[in-house]
Amino acid sequence: MVPYNRETLFRAAQWIVTSKRRVGRKIRQLVGTEEECTLILTELYRIEDHLRRARSLRVDATLTLVDWLTILEYFQWRCAYCQAEPFQVLLHILPQDTAGTTPENCVPACRHCKCSSKRERTHVMKYLATLHYQQAEQKVTEKKDPPYEV
Ligand SMILES: [Zn+2]
Repeated sequence: MVPYNRETLFRAAQWIVTSKRRVGRKIRQLVGTEEECTLILTELYRIEDHLRRARSLRVDATLTLVDWLTILEYFQWRCAYCQAEPFQVLLHILPQDTAGTTPENCVPACRHCKCSSKRERTHVMKYLATLHYQQAEQKVTEKKDPPYEV
């Protein structure tokens, strides 16, 4: 696991997502250390490759850098399947050409699990259930918000 400052890492990721820019100097300024800068750019290039491919396949390409860092953190930067190895690749749960590159379809994996047909899916299923629960909860909260009184 790479040591990093969660707050600055997410602040930099948020800046990249909202500004749609990636100025090395600015990112370095936001994160503080060279290691964190490399870390954030590595993950940015990783997801951009997958997003480009998803767009060319004309499927959903909605995963953001903030989403991806949140997913990595959820799995503690380890393989989502075996939970033993540090993650090495972004893996699509369902084939990318049908389900796209979205927060619901991307998890970190080690190379071994990526190539294995007998992946242990318990943790991934639990993650998806948590995600769906959060989305449902968000909808309820939005409904509960009282309308502005005139
Ligand atoms: Zn694994």
